[in-house]
Amino acid sequence: MAIIKTEPFENDGKTYEIRVEGSGWDYTVRAFLNGKPANGYRYCVSLPTAFDLRTVADIDAIKVLLDAAKRDVEEGIWEQYVDAYVKTLSKTEDQALGCRNCATRTITVSTVDQRKMFECTNCGAIWYEQRVMTNAYLVQVDDITEGVERDGGYETDTSLLLNGAFRAHETGPSFEDQLRSWAIQNRLQYEHFTTSGRPHLRFWRKTRSGPQATSTQGS
Ligand SMILES: [Zn+2]
Repeated sequence: MAIIKTEPFENDGKTYEIRVEGSGWDYTVRAFLNGKPANGYRYCVSLPTAFDLRTVADIDAIKVLLDAAKRDVEEGIWEQYVDAYVKTLSKTEDQALGCRNCATRTITVSTVDQRKMFECTNCGAIWYEQRVMTNAYLVQVDDITEGVERDGGYETDTSLLLNGAFRAHETGPSFEDQLRSWAIQNRLQYEHFTTSGRPHLRFWRKTRSGPQATSTQGS
């Protein structure tokens, strides 16, 4: 891997360096501080076609990774993950033992987006294993699942997913197929809508104790 580009980046009075390294097909982006990795994230992408190393730093896929690296430094995401992880260390085993919502101990475990997803067979509550490594794809899909968990729903400009996590490749599944299969895996509902003339997507999760169960038809 050769260093293709370094970009200085100021945050909190410190000068970080965002480094893009690559070999023609495989690229990694990392944030450095004083010559050492600033956090535990490496953003990796393999491009379907070899690019001229002199021009590769300008292509969209690399820019997305650069932006993700900067954003995570700015928001201290890694530090938050480490803090949260350390706090849960003694409880990690409990994640699979009982439902946080109803305390039922019958939990289904599956692997979604490279981490475990726990599903309560009694109340339908969903929760995920703590993530310690991420990448541009996971950053984008985690924004959705975390938004739904935090706010009960998540809305996004469709083009961000169309050009990002669920980008269609010539021989692969279409955008809609990828979106549908991802939503099913995460037990999410979604709908398309338009706002300000632009297509958007809204995600939410129907839990058995959620909106469906509380809506009543007269009495
Ligand atoms: Zn439950």
